[in-house]
Amino acid sequence: MDDETRQRYIRAGRISAEALEYGKGLIKKGSSLLETTELIEKKILELGGKPAFPVQISCDHIAAHYCPEQDDSVVFGNQLVSLDLGVHVDGAVGDTAYTIDLSGNYPDAVKAAQQALAEALKIVGVGVTLGEIGKAIQDTIAGYGLAPVRNLSGHGIDIYNIHTEPTVPNCDTHDKTVLRKGQVIAIEPFATTGLGMVQESGAASVFMLVAKKPVRNPITREVLRRIESYEGLPFCRRWLVREFGQKTNYALRELAMLGMIEQFPPLVEVKKGVVAQAEHTVLIEEEPVVLTRL
Ligand code: MN
Ligand code: MN
Repeated sequence: MDDETRQRYIRAGRISAEALEYGKGLIKKGSSLLETTELIEKKILELGGKPAFPVQISCDHIAAHYCPEQDDSVVFGNQLVSLDLGVHVDGAVGDTAYTIDLSGNYPDAVKAAQQALAEALKIVGVGVTLGEIGKAIQDTIAGYGLAPVRNLSGHGIDIYNIHTEPTVPNCDTHDKTVLRKGQVIAIEPFATTGLGMVQESGAASVFMLVAKKPVRNPITREVLRRIESYEGLPFCRRWLVREFGQKTNYALRELAMLGMIEQFPPLVEVKKGVVAQAEHTVLIEEEPVVLTRL
């Protein structure tokens, strides 16, 4: 990685960390989830970054991919609230998450996810295997009597690409692939009171452009031009509704039919266990750099 790119990652990481700190302060009983999401996205822009994906706030048994629609009416109450955000600076991404227990009922879930991340960060580095990272996470979470979510994982990050090789597991997969200098990876343990598996549930509000095809319809073309400005990073319906109103759903339906967008429905724990998450983005060097830590 050249020095200019490295500086972009460092900047994206720092803005992610600052936006996460800001967001943590907004998650309070009685606050609106939609307003909180929009304030955090505004903060990211003020800090000089752009959202690498829509801010995700997933409550209780929802593990990931919950992103409010324009008319979302959820108000925080006695919930376990996971805030997951990403910031990019010219395509270099920082991805970070934190869970707040407003219910007071699940202190161990929060601690297990955070401790698992801490243990993984203690061992991460050049030559460490993916299986070793997964084992550190699994053992730590199991030590709290909880389960890691096995079908969610951390991931490699590349320019304008938030999910690439390698897959960074949350359990011991015995994967012997080693981490290499110059890789950027996100480590993201999920701890649950449930079985440790998630499945898709409900309608997607998060999408990603995955193919280029000729589009004839002028409405769809207009919306597609905005979607192309996200450079292949995920986006949400809310961003488009703000600009295009009712045209949005028409265009999204057509793009889905054409196979041009991938949809990401909310991921829910299969036994309705509550799920806590912690996440940092790390630059693998001889001395690994935790990019999203203040
Ligand atoms: Mn994330
Ligand atoms: Mn991630």
